[in-house]
Amino acid sequence: MRLQEHIIISSVAAAALAPAWGIQNSLLFLVSAVMIDSDHYLDYLYRTKAKDWSPARMFRYYDKMSLMEKNDPEMLGFSLCHNAEIFLLVYLLAIFTHLNLFMVILSGMFFHLVLDMFWLKHHKVFFIRSYSLIEYKIRKRLLLKKGLNPQNFFDKLFKLSVD
Ligand SMILES: [Zn+2]
Repeated sequence: MRLQEHIIISSVAAAALAPAWGIQNSLLFLVSAVMIDSDHYLDYLYRTKAKDWSPARMFRYYDKMSLMEKNDPEMLGFSLCHNAEIFLLVYLLAIFTHLNLFMVILSGMFFHLVLDMFWLKHHKVFFIRSYSLIEYKIRKRLLLKKGLNPQNFFDKLFKLSVD
């Protein structure tokens, strides 16, 4: 799902939560639900070996990705903060610190992930990205065994988005 859509839908949800959760917690929910997508920028830097830091080109890169990913057998998406292990880490932080703010952050992240999953399902690309670091490792290894490398897809995409 696009960033603008996340901002709009999460703002509505945060406004609805405000009477029960208070302004501070609903704002934290909103920030978490939106900022989880900043991992796409990290992923962009990683995939392009930090050759390009331009946010504008990154958005172009992801626009092209959504057009090309469906039919490319080498495509395997990875977004660090969208993985189960990161959710588990935030959950453990909430448990061990007894701080409610981690549960609020987790709620925002979960809300975001559910929106992404609906979007991916709707566009028939539900399994285009991994939902766990372990799953990513396994699926990448299986692709490499078949002679397919996800990095080839990202290299191709990067060339197209900088031209
Ligand atoms: Zn997302």
